[in-house]
Amino acid sequence: MWITNGSVADVAVVWAQTDDRIRGFVVPTDTPGFSAPEIKKKMSLRASVTSELVLDNVRLPASAILPGASGLSGPLSCLSEARFGIVFGALGAARDCLEATIEYAGERQIFDKSLAAYQLTQAKLADMTLELGKGMLLALHLGRLKDEGTLESAQVSLGKLNNVREAIAIARECRTILAAAGITLEYPVMRHANNLESVLTYEGTSEVHQLVIGQALTGQSAFR
Ligand SMILES: Cc1cc2nc3c(=O)[nH]c(=O)nc-3n(C[C@H](O)[C@H](O)[C@H](O)COP(=O)(O)OP(=O)(O)OC[C@H]3O[C@@H](n4cnc5c(N)ncnc54)[C@H](O)[C@@H]3O)c2cc1C
Repeated sequence: MWITNGSVADVAVVWAQTDDRIRGFVVPTDTPGFSAPEIKKKMSLRASVTSELVLDNVRLPASAILPGASGLSGPLSCLSEARFGIVFGALGAARDCLEATIEYAGERQIFDKSLAAYQLTQAKLADMTLELGKGMLLALHLGRLKDEGTLESAQVSLGKLNNVREAIAIARECRTILAAAGITLEYPVMRHANNLESVLTYEGTSEVHQLVIGQALTGQSAFR
């Protein structure tokens, strides 16, 4: 379920349990038995197509098997790459919200001064800038570990969990400063907030990342 670009792709990469552990398959989407109905009525990431992949008696040649990837490490290494990108990407959304909000607050007049000149507004802007900066330092640090080749997947989980969670918190706080204007598409804030809801879920839900970090800390798996 929930596969990005599933109905527009020419090939699907499908990871499946076989008699020989988990293996990856390259599946041409015109293979008999393959279909990808689109999931409609999304309120988040509406610009991208999301689909269900249905495989009904699909038969593939042995050459469809991805060589050299056997077990969970294949799909998990793909996920670590994508999650690492999200560590930065979520902050981009948060930064856009914050910049749009600072500009709005400077222009919006409340009584005899701009919204930006009220202490409560400035406290919110300061706190959001703090979290954005902390998230960026975390992302940079993880990037440097990646360059060194020492980045662990649990550290990627930490970055993904923190930065997406904080990006959503920033988008929501920005929305309060924009007030009613914040619920329209006139400003980017609600769009980012809605899209970040998907980001919180895909590439490992926040709960699953908590479990990855919990396992790294305690040595105990709590996944099942
Ligand atoms: C817009 C969008 C695009 C997507 N694109 C892709 C894609 O291209 N490819 C792809 O593979 N996936 C994609 N996904 C799927 C995404 O990875 C899944 O939605 C996600 O893994 C969660 O699965 P689920 O929605 O079935 O939730 P569920 O697994 O039903 O989870 C429900 C709740 O239970 C919690 N939970 C689940 N398991 C455990 C556990 N063991 N312990 C404790 N809590 C648990 C979850 O954290 C969540 O809170 C996409 C999703 C969205 C929304």
